[in-house]
Amino acid sequence: MNCPACSEPMIVLEVEEIEIDHCLGCGGVWLDSGELELLLENASNRDELMATLAKGVEGKEKHVHCPICSRRLQKLRYGVEKEIILDKCSRDHGIWFDRGELCQALRMGEYLSGRPVYDILSEIFGASCKNDTPK
Ligand SMILES: [Zn+2]
Ligand SMILES: [Zn+2]
Repeated sequence: MNCPACSEPMIVLEVEEIEIDHCLGCGGVWLDSGELELLLENASNRDELMATLAKGVEGKEKHVHCPICSRRLQKLRYGVEKEIILDKCSRDHGIWFDRGELCQALRMGEYLSGRPVYDILSEIFGASCKNDTPK
């Protein structure tokens, strides 16, 4: 699969039956929709988080297309107090985090720690995000 943002081939990281597609070119990450469910599984405020996902937003960033069906991904807000914007396929193929969005998501650990996908993302990408200055 090629990166939806920069068209470089992505590498597949497979950890505990979860597949994460990662682009070494731009640092973005693609998660299949089932993996998003895993990310939010058992979160105490899961319903609240899913409700925030339903809100569409028009971001100023450039648009990204789904690597599976090529439709333009929808910009969604994610989070309750702190917010990140991510890109999700309207046919539920998955979600795209660009590098900055992924690091922001990892900083929202108070919502998500203990989720298998979160812990894996944190383990793989946490160190490289430490050098990023928060916006
Ligand atoms: Zn890329
Ligand atoms: Zn799609």
